[in-house]
Formats: sequence, C-alpha cells, structure tokens
Amino acid sequence: MVSAELLKILVCPSCKGDLEYDVNADTLTCMGKHCPECGMPVNRDGKCADKECGKISKNFVGLRYRVEDDIPIMLIYEAEKIPLAG
Ligand SMILES: [Zn+2]
Ligand SMILES: [Zn+2]
Repeated sequence: MVSAELLKILVCPSCKGDLEYDVNADTLTCMGKHCPECGMPVNRDGKCADKECGKISKNFVGLRYRVEDDIPIMLIYEAEKIPLAG
C-alpha cells in the first residue's frame, strides 16, 4: 500500500503524467501515450522521444508500475506495458 503523501508527489518517470493508483492490485498506472518499444513518451506524430529508439508508432501503451514492500518501482523498463484502446 502506497502512502497518500507519496501518491501526491509521484508522476510517471517517462511522460511526467498523472498516475492512477489501484489499491487492490497495488499498482500505479499511467495512461499517457508511450512508445510500445521502449516506454518513452511519444510526440504528436507518434514518434518516440528516445533518440536511440525513434520508433514511429500508432499503437501506444500505458505503463503500469508495481509496488514492492510499499515502494513503487518507478522504472520505465520494469513497468508493464498496457495497450491503449484507440
Ligand atoms: Zn507516462
Ligand atoms: Zn521508443
């Protein structure tokens, strides 16, 4: 369980977007648009912000971060990629 204090200040490490906390699953989810390859944010054209990756995509993903011992694991490469509808 993540403390309310911590939830207030946490943002997605990829896109700096808001996180949705699922108390039951104990996960934090960002439903912003991220590159399906590397999880970095994408620009308006769907191009990945990461220079090394640079993938242009139409199927973006949200990122779901797990919580271990009350500590959210805020690592992009550790996050589960959730396909976004639309
Ligand atoms: Zn994000
Ligand atoms: Zn990428």
